[in-house]
Amino acid sequence: MSLQICDLHARIVERAILRGISLEIRPGETHAIMGPNGSGKSTLSKVLAGHPDYEVTQGSVVLDGVSLLEREPDERARMGLFLAFQYPCEIPGVSIANFLRAATQARLPEGESLSVTDFYQKLYHEMDALGMQRTFSSRPLNSGFSGGEKKRAEILQMAMLQPRYAVLDETDSGLDIDALKVVAGGVNRLRGPEAGLLIITHYQRLLDYISPDFVHVMVAGRIVQSGGPELALELEKRGYGFLEERYGSSE
Ligand code: ADP
Ligand code: MG
Ligand code: MG
Repeated sequence: MSLQICDLHARIVERAILRGISLEIRPGETHAIMGPNGSGKSTLSKVLAGHPDYEVTQGSVVLDGVSLLEREPDERARMGLFLAFQYPCEIPGVSIANFLRAATQARLPEGESLSVTDFYQKLYHEMDALGMQRTFSSRPLNSGFSGGEKKRAEILQMAMLQPRYAVLDETDSGLDIDALKVVAGGVNRLRGPEAGLLIITHYQRLLDYISPDFVHVMVAGRIVQSGGPELALELEKRGYGFLEERYGSSE
């Protein structure tokens, strides 16, 4: 069992961005990918999500023995993969709670259903654990959300779906410290022997709250170094400059 990425190459409009990414995430493991801006971190998460703008030109991704790349994005989710930006759009008139109920229901085996009472019980349980105000769940999905609120909604979604594998791209959107803590709280709640996690981040600061088992550094579309949590601290001190000199800059 694992999410196994093998020699993955992908491009966008004729430009190679991922240039041979190999990485295996097993249940129980938390991996972090760090790297300078433009190194391809978000591209990797978008390719895993099945974003139509990216063309995979080489390599494979296998989730618990099943090849992922031919699957539609919603099939990937049903296979147990969670990608935080899978529903980035605004859906007018649909509250977070409605949306999560539909999403939770869609993941249940055929013929099973979740009663409204059970759903709200679970929803509030997760919201309380994540330190979220319950009223947040009645807000319309993504409409007028701040960056931090979007993250909250995503993390709540992750908590409700309890995926086997989750890929979280912190993006470089400058999350404030409260949003970082929400992300970290959600990740730490999901951690356990059954879940494999990939945290993508530009900055070390998220890793102050989530201690990953493995840290990988991406530069110019490749993983150029892997190590333990100490690697993140070293990068925080030294910056990415020396790695870009050695392995090429993406820009
Ligand atoms: P990171 O998340 O590491 O900052 P990205 O994956 O966002 O890096 O970007 C990697 C490279 O791909 C950058 O050079 C970026 O300009 C380019 N890129 C990303 N998305 C697009 C796009 N939609 N069109 C053209 N180039 C893109
Ligand atoms: Mg970027
Ligand atoms: Mg990015």
